Amino acid sequence: MPSTYAQPRYAAAPTPTGPEHHPVVVAGAGLVGLTLALDLARRGVRVVVLDDDDTVSLGSRAICFAKRTLEIFGRLGLGARFLDKGITWKTGRVFHRDREAYAFDLLPEDGHEYPAFVNLQQYYAEEWLVEACIAAGVDLRWKHRITKVAHDADGATLRAQTPDGDYVLRADWLLACDGARSFIRDSLGLPFTGPVFRDRFLIADVVIRGDVPFPTERWFWFDPPFHPGRSVLLHKQPDNVWRIDFQLGWDSDPEAEKRPEKVIPRVAAMLGAEVPFDLEWVSVYTFRCRRLERFRHGRVIFAGDAAHQVSPFGARGGNSGVQDADNLAWKLAFVLAGRAPAALLDSYGAERVAAADENILHSTRSTDFIAPKGAAARAYRDAVLDLSARHAFARPLVNSGRLSRPTIHADSPLNDVTGWPGGTVPGTPAPDAPVLSDGRPDWLLRHIGGDFKLLVFGPPDAALAATLPAGIAALFVTAEDVPGALWDHAGLAAARFAAPRGGAVLLRPDQHVAARFVTPDPAALRAAFHRALALGPERIAGGRERPDA
Ligand SMILES: Cc1cc2nc3c(=O)[nH]c(=O)nc-3n(C[C@H](O)[C@H](O)[C@H](O)COP(=O)(O)OP(=O)(O)OC[C@H]3O[C@@H](n4cnc5c(N)ncnc54)[C@H](O)[C@@H]3O)c2cc1C
Repeated sequence: MPSTYAQPRYAAAPTPTGPEHHPVVVAGAGLVGLTLALDLARRGVRVVVLDDDDTVSLGSRAICFAKRTLEIFGRLGLGARFLDKGITWKTGRVFHRDREAYAFDLLPEDGHEYPAFVNLQQYYAEEWLVEACIAAGVDLRWKHRITKVAHDADGATLRAQTPDGDYVLRADWLLACDGARSFIRDSLGLPFTGPVFRDRFLIADVVIRGDVPFPTERWFWFDPPFHPGRSVLLHKQPDNVWRIDFQLGWDSDPEAEKRPEKVIPRVAAMLGAEVPFDLEWVSVYTFRCRRLERFRHGRVIFAGDAAHQVSPFGARGGNSGVQDADNLAWKLAFVLAGRAPAALLDSYGAERVAAADENILHSTRSTDFIAPKGAAARAYRDAVLDLSARHAFARPLVNSGRLSRPTIHADSPLNDVTGWPGGTVPGTPAPDAPVLSDGRPDWLLRHIGGDFKLLVFGPPDAALAATLPAGIAALFVTAEDVPGALWDHAGLAAARFAAPRGGAVLLRPDQHVAARFVTPDPAALRAAFHRALALGPERIAGGRERPDA
């Protein structure tokens, strides 16, 4: 049990006395299920969440929350908590044997509300999400384990087991966020395959007492003197907890490696004998990279680890799961409100499967570099590391974990790819920028999200605003101080979008670019809006929307 964290215990929810019917049931109150439930609830959707446990996830799990994830949590009202409690960092250093090979800066430019990364134990994030879910009216049911699931064209029927007995509930939509060992995935008989990496890693979370010999940076060692032949990764977390990952090799004995008499000498060799520390948490893990073939199966939709799994190198598991939730919540809310056909949800699958493939590719490459298979791969790896100390060209070849970046859904069926070349192409999350709002310092992204927005790089234009289809609000951004517009005083908003004067960007409710217009034209705008809602061409031409299953 960690000494630095008081683990909350939530009361088991009462057991319903008869069958129930709900529009949306989320399976699993982990990082992803909670984010999804919160986003849906803030969009006015009634959500029930079932979880078999009565607490947040403990032990060594996610610590690195990436900028895009922080922006999503910002949209959900939690951004300040991450910034206040989390450890902000952006510098990484790579060491080879006994010397530094090079350092890198993950976010070299200023002018973003959120940094490249914040380190924070996953349990804090979940605890805050629970609080926010309760405040938003989510029906959170702890100690309700799903033991049976059957799905059909109209939804899913679940059996839940509670301390006081079982009950049955019907869901119009079932969102499976029940983690890597997903019961729902297994019950539906869906294959979840991919390679197991034949290596083991020891995670030691330690509290360092007194002076700390490291700055707030990510340090990665290949073949260091204190752990020869293997790799070591170091990260700082809040509460003076440090995460140290030791590569162990496939032949190691996981049970023996977890014993304090094995762990303490490893940590002491790394920190130096004079640095006092206490073990906070120790675990040994192996990992796999895999995904479901499809994330949407009619009325059952998978997100997070239930849908895809990657190695921890690159911090892509939890970050991509939160980004799944960001992608799915608005789409499902629009479908439930009758604002879009259910076909919109297929774009969730298309976009997030592409994201999972990108993450799996990066994660696999990192793993192959960190744990080379065979003598030739190791010789190549060591040569690259030697060269990287002296030659910048070799540094991009070093792969100690390409750190999570949001996927650009460039091939999304929701994109309208006309507009201008360069800048933030359709499918990209909108970049942030500092602005002045009524003379006060503010951030662009705080004004985007929730619903569709047309970001117009020009002064307020009532005639243009009047032509916008219902459901799109205009947001004007100007290079000068103009009443009724955000003032792009540093010019960064226009520069990051590469927007011409008078140009406009249609943004989806998840802050992704849907379309760009050199000159906003009502017909083109309407067509792009309908495309972003997966409305068919007959609707675009003014016809009736087809009912869609
Ligand atoms: C060592 C390690 C380090 C990591 N580091 C990072 C990192 O730095 N950054 C990052 O982004 N990611 C990281 N990850 C990955 C991250 O922890 C996961 O991707 C994330 O927890 C996935 O969240 P989830 O909600 O999909 O699943 P989970 O967190 O596993 O949640 C699933 C929930 O479903 C519940 N559940 C399961 N079965 C049932 C059932 N039958 N009925 C009801 N409830 C059920 C469980 O109790 C649980 O609460 C790391 C993982 C590991 C192991």
